[in-house]
Amino acid sequence: MKTIIKTESPGYLQMSLAAAMTLGLRPGIFYRGAKLSCINLLLTYGKGCAGSCAYCGLQRQRSGEFNRKSFIRVEWPAFSLAEIMARMKKHAAQIERVCISMVTRKSAANDTLLVIRSLEPLGKPVSVLMAPTILKREQIRQLKEAGAGIGSVAIDAATPGLFSRFRGQGVKGPHRWDRYWQCLGDAVEVFGAGKAGCHLIVGLGETEEEMAAAVQRVVDMGANVHLFSFYPEEGSVLEERSPCAAGRFRRLQLAAYLIQSGFTTFAGLSFGTSGEILDFGVDAAEAAIAIQSGAPFMTSGCPGSDGQVACTRPYGDGPPGDIRSYPFTPNMEDIAKIKMEIGDK
Ligand code: SF4
Repeated sequence: MKTIIKTESPGYLQMSLAAAMTLGLRPGIFYRGAKLSCINLLLTYGKGCAGSCAYCGLQRQRSGEFNRKSFIRVEWPAFSLAEIMARMKKHAAQIERVCISMVTRKSAANDTLLVIRSLEPLGKPVSVLMAPTILKREQIRQLKEAGAGIGSVAIDAATPGLFSRFRGQGVKGPHRWDRYWQCLGDAVEVFGAGKAGCHLIVGLGETEEEMAAAVQRVVDMGANVHLFSFYPEEGSVLEERSPCAAGRFRRLQLAAYLIQSGFTTFAGLSFGTSGEILDFGVDAAEAAIAIQSGAPFMTSGCPGSDGQVACTRPYGDGPPGDIRSYPFTPNMEDIAKIKMEIGDK
């Protein structure tokens, strides 16, 4: 009789290609010596995710086995939890954080708890990218008690209309705008201010003004903004859509950095007739210092023990030849390019 092995969570997890390279589970070196010190894991199920977000590679409608589908832009291979643990122990010196992305399935809450508890011997900080549609506030508390230190929510779309169109009723999906924001509020309450994060994707059709308003809302709640530049996922409903324009992303990276750092507010920004950012509400010298530092244009993600971003997601939202989120400090040439992009409307 043939034995069928279930390669599902919690016994199995998918892992970003970049994390697999970091752990030596996939060959390759990162372009320009980029480093990743966060191991990004994703729960995996034979039936996939119950959501059907238009931009995601895990959509129900897409053909292919779920654990072979890519989650975002690059391959997410599956490995056993035992193998992942063994590899993480071997490479412990390079690891500053582990992130578990849930998917929308009822069993995901308990499975995430099991995975977090299994990570304990490693002694590394843990983030959970939560699935608000299936997660109750009490379960968020359980995630914290199990050992997670940061809880994040991928609201992704900046407006209720875009959220509904790409994640909710527009794609017959189960996700609801209000529920996602409520979950972010719960995360701040449970994990504490500065220990909750919110993913937002620039380029889904919102104006820069709408995205800046969403950034301010997240910051006002006491959470951290993690910006992503939209890049079309092959096989998704939005596969034909153009990637987010560089200029739009750069202006929003700068605005988000200035808002999150307390240098400006949404009310201090000025916008043109199409909602494009015209002024950041800081004086020219201050803006120049921020731009020259390169910091606003680096990947925004959860930190390691040194306070630096551990979740650098190298080339996760754009190809190495047209970097959107820099996984390292941009050099002089990069800054010159960024300056041109900021002015490109
Ligand atoms: S920023 Fe990175 S580590 Fe933090 S929740 Fe998002 S994917 Fe996970």
